[in-house]
Amino acid sequence: MKYINEEKIYTQLSGAKSVSTQEIESILAKSVSLKRLELDEVAKLLSVEGQKSTSMLFDAASRVKNEIYGSRVVLFAPLYINNICSNYCAYCAFRADNKTIKRRKLNQEEISEQARVLLKMGHKRVLVVSSEPGGKEDADYYVDSIKTIYSARFNNNYIRRVNINCAPLSIDGFRKLKDAGIGTYQLFQETYHHKTYLQLHPKGPKSDPDNRIEAIERAFAAGIEDIGVGVLYGLYDYRFETLALLTHIACLEQKFGVGPHTISVPRIEPALGTEFFDSSRYKVSDLEFKKLVAIIRLAVPYTGIILSTRESPKMRDELFNLGVSQISAASRTSPGGYAEPGADKDTDSGGQFVLSDNRSLNDMVKLLIEKKSIPSFCAACYRKERTGKAFMSLAKPGNIKGKCSINALVTLKEYLDDFATGDVRSQGYALIDEVSKSLPEEDKKQLIPFLEEVSRGIRDKYV
Ligand code: SAM
Ligand code: SF4
Repeated sequence: MKYINEEKIYTQLSGAKSVSTQEIESILAKSVSLKRLELDEVAKLLSVEGQKSTSMLFDAASRVKNEIYGSRVVLFAPLYINNICSNYCAYCAFRADNKTIKRRKLNQEEISEQARVLLKMGHKRVLVVSSEPGGKEDADYYVDSIKTIYSARFNNNYIRRVNINCAPLSIDGFRKLKDAGIGTYQLFQETYHHKTYLQLHPKGPKSDPDNRIEAIERAFAAGIEDIGVGVLYGLYDYRFETLALLTHIACLEQKFGVGPHTISVPRIEPALGTEFFDSSRYKVSDLEFKKLVAIIRLAVPYTGIILSTRESPKMRDELFNLGVSQISAASRTSPGGYAEPGADKDTDSGGQFVLSDNRSLNDMVKLLIEKKSIPSFCAACYRKERTGKAFMSLAKPGNIKGKCSINALVTLKEYLDDFATGDVRSQGYALIDEVSKSLPEEDKKQLIPFLEEVSRGIRDKYV
């Protein structure tokens, strides 16, 4: 596979087997000073065992997350638009030969309805997700869908950032997405292990791993600056995958001067009509998963880490502290799922996999507030053109945190005023009060007038 020298990765991993606690300590000390780690240092962290070293690793990840992003966690919802697929991914319910699910490609009216349901919940950020129907690329359909979502309204509310996770496109196709105002283009390599890739993607356009890996470059070439990458954990050895993912990222940084905006960490879930989950040899345990998230946080401190509702409430709650900066909430993985009450448990209505966290957005906001994390609906960076290199040049000297905190508090206040139920509102106001007081004077000066404006009904103010 392009960029990936498997022998080198195995050598790095086997060379890192017996690492002393002192050495781990010095790598962690380097990472908390926000210096990028070398790949052989990452390999050493991947060998961490034992309670003491593991808790040192977790502490370091949580410090780095708070240093760069503060205590905010960005919330979003996936919006599945199509599950008709020409690929044969062994692990996915949308696989072409899976007869057990209902197939559906939403029309623009249905997409608008889905967006309105999300707006009514209080969402402001949407990730469009689509299968790959095959034949001519579906760029025009994606463009229409993105525009439909941006133009959906519920009272004064609209979706402020639309990201997309869809099959690789041509440079022209990516240009169309860029012109339609796409935020991040997200594409997971699934596995960086060549043989495993070929086995699990035997037919269809996705069967060519290089076309997939090169799609990231085509997206950059088309001017999309925010790219999201990821591994589907559970397909192959997680140590290999993590090192390969970071190798890929290092190559992108070298070639384009900027790495991905986000890294997603999906972990394989059972899916209707596939045996893959039960037979997988490479399942990643909860502890291993927490370690790999912490290691990614340390290795690339400036890249957002996204976690979906594939993970259980307990795991998600623990992973907030280890470096996750964005989470989905109240998700459905079937096209049209938001309009169908009960679709959360009903995977045979066309869901991609079984979700483990079915809490509402209000519940998630409450939980974050109780953990003293700021639930954020911010979409400012993209709209202020702080993407790609511009974002990194702010993030690296630690200058993004102030903006994140202000925007997070303003968008939280909007959510509380417009959507919160029960005691979430009063708890949220108390958190805003507490966090505001701890901000530097300069940030307070910007924040207070914004909060007052929100109280007067003015919306969508950001820095
Ligand atoms: N069809 C496009 C593709 O495959 O790139 C994009 C959308 S696909 C619906 C989004 C992602 O879902 C895939 O990249 C894969 O990582 C993930 N996925 C598929 N089956 C899964 C499963 N059983 N459990 C968890 N994630 C899964
Ligand atoms: Fe289709 Fe994507 Fe599922 Fe593969 S992972 S079957 S390409 S939707």
